[in-house]
Order: sequence, then structure tokens, then C-alpha cells
Amino acid sequence: MIRFADVTKVYPGGTTAVGGLSFVAPTGKITVLVGPSGCGKTTSLRMINRMIEPTSGTIEIDGRDTSTLEPNELRRGIGYVIQSGGLFPHRTILDNIATVPQLLGWDRRRARAVASELLERVGLAPELGRRYPNQLSGGQQQRVGVARALAADPPVMLMDEPFSAVDPVVRDQLQQEFLRLQAELGKTIVFVTHDIDEAVKLGDQVAVLRVGGTLAQLAGPADLLADPADDFVADFLGRDRGYRALAFQAAPDLPVTPEPAVPLGADAESARRAACGGWVLVVDGARAPLGWVRPAHLAGVVTRDDLHRGGTVAPVGGTLRAALDAALSSPSRRGVLVDDDGRLVGTVRAQDVLAEIEREPVGEAP
Ligand code: ADP
Repeated sequence: MIRFADVTKVYPGGTTAVGGLSFVAPTGKITVLVGPSGCGKTTSLRMINRMIEPTSGTIEIDGRDTSTLEPNELRRGIGYVIQSGGLFPHRTILDNIATVPQLLGWDRRRARAVASELLERVGLAPELGRRYPNQLSGGQQQRVGVARALAADPPVMLMDEPFSAVDPVVRDQLQQEFLRLQAELGKTIVFVTHDIDEAVKLGDQVAVLRVGGTLAQLAGPADLLADPADDFVADFLGRDRGYRALAFQAAPDLPVTPEPAVPLGADAESARRAACGGWVLVVDGARAPLGWVRPAHLAGVVTRDDLHRGGTVAPVGGTLRAALDAALSSPSRRGVLVDDDGRLVGTVRAQDVLAEIEREPVGEAP
């Protein structure tokens, strides 16, 4: 557990970057610091590993005042990931990952073995280990940055905008993989971002800071969206809060209607017979949904070119947001639900999702 107690940082020149910050980052959880540029996020993060010394107040890790610890000793238990990976350009990927273990005096073989294992763990092919950072994409470099921070298996990870420098698709993948990794590793993580969507997606708890480095609100993502503390937090959260909050509500009991579906290659006549409301769902050999077709527009058999692919697919028992989006994005207005293996289970209508939403208003769920 990391505890900030009335921590301030006034830089030489007089800027108060952090103004009396108190909060706890619980063990094994992701705490996100979010807020507008200049609100003291990076300063707060770097005070944890003493790259920056607080002006006043105390920061404790597991009950130990960090100001009493020797900085190098302190940093051994703290992984640090920054934007763009911060890799050493003249070292191979494997040597980059093995940096901290080697500093700790591990023998080269053990350090490299751990580095190879981590390379795989963050989703990179073993042969990338021999390359240099500039031979990797931004997303791959970012993964290496995470692997390097994990190499000495520190209980605490500090992450400063680690996914900001990559495009939105890669960013989404990195976020998903980061959550998967954290579910396995259970590190105590403090994560800085200026992006509120990233904050609510990744945080077990989210600390919203205002300029001057004071805490505007500390809450779980669902509570933050449902009940912003003031206008500043509400403005910072932005639009579509009601819709976004649905991502935190599970929908175990939605009524699922069986959906007749046809395989690729089905003839127009059987597609017409299976159609409902002018649309029929097409599945592959494993009954995974591929898209919708309008049999009335078919020339011959159903081909991939005939597919309307606009609809999203939601997992059964997933969130209300995913189910509602599946219904709203489906050209037939029937939202496609699949099981864990991606196979068609049936469809759900927006009105049924809305009925479920009204049954359990936001903020009143048990
Ligand atoms: P954020 O990470 O939220 O963008 P920072 O912690 O980087 O905010 O900065 C907070 C405030 O402190 C800003 O006003 C910034 O200009 C100022 N600041 C940051 N680093 C220094 C420094 N080394 N010297 C003086 N002022 C600084």
C-alpha cells in the first residue's frame, strides 16, 4: 500500500505542483492519477521513487516512510515505465529487459532467461529479443518498456502515460494486455494519464487532480461516472457519462432470443426463409457470427462480399454497454450475443437492455 499524507511539492521558482495531496493506493490494485496538463501527476508519481523529493508531507510504502530509505534500495522494489518505453537505443531488446537484474548482480544467464520469459509474457516473439529499439514499432517498444519494469519482479509499478505515444488501435490492445497481465501479477500500480477514458478503463480507483495538485475526487470508475463530486470533475469526465457507466454494469439476465442463422454459401432461398425483418445472420463453420445479409438483395449464394459488418458482438453475461451497443449497431436491430468461444448464442433487443437498465438504476445496484 502506498500512502500519501499531505504531500506538497513547491519547485524552486515558486510553482506549487502538488498542494497537500493525501490518498492511499491499495496493494495489488491500479490507482490512476488523472487530470489536466500541469496538475502535478508526474511530480506526484516521481515523488514515490524519490526522483523528486517532496517539499513537505510523507509518502509511505507498506508503512515505511520513503524518506528514511536509501533511494537505490527503494527503487529496487519499484518498476518504472514511461512514454515511448524509454529504452536504451544501443542495447538489444533482451539486454534492455535484463538491465535491472544485471544491476542487481544476477548472473547473465539468469537475467537473460528472465528477460526471454518476460518478452513472451508481454506478447512479443522471441526473435525480437535480438533487435534494437529502433527496429521495433512504437507499440512493441512500449511492451518492452513494461517487460523491463517487471524484470526484477518489483511489488510496485509506476507508469507515466505509458500508452500515450501509440495509435488508438494499438493503444487499445496494450491496455487490454496490461489488464490481463495485471490480473496475473497483482502489482500495486500507480498509473498517470491525462486521458479520462483510459483512467476509467484501467483504474480500480481513479484520483482526479486539479491544477495546483489537489485531489478533486477519488473513486472507483463506476462511481466517478455516476456521481462526479463537482462541476470540475463532471466537465473533465465529459459527455456520454450515462452510456459509459453501463460498461461497469453486468447484464447476466438479459432475455436472449434464438437467432436463425445461415452459413456462408447458403442459397438465396434458404436465406430468405431464415430471414426475419429483412435480415439474416451469417455464421462460419464454428457458428461464429460473420455479419448480416439482406436476402432480398442476394444475387446467388451468400458470399463474404454480401456481409454487412457494422454490428458489434457482445459476450453473453457481459456488460450492459456491450449488449446495448450490439443492438444499436446491428442493422436488424437485433444485438448478437456470443459465448466465450465466440459462437452465436442468440440476439437481444435494445428495449430489453433498456428494461434491465431501468430495473437497476445507476448507483443503486447492490
Ligand atoms: P502533469 O504531469 O500533471 O502535467 P507536472 O507534475 O509535470 O504535471 O507539473 C506540475 C507543475 O509543476 C506544472 O506547472 C509544471 O510546469 C511544474 N513543474 C514541473 N517540473 C518542474 C521543474 N522541474 N521545475 C519547475 N517547475 C516544474
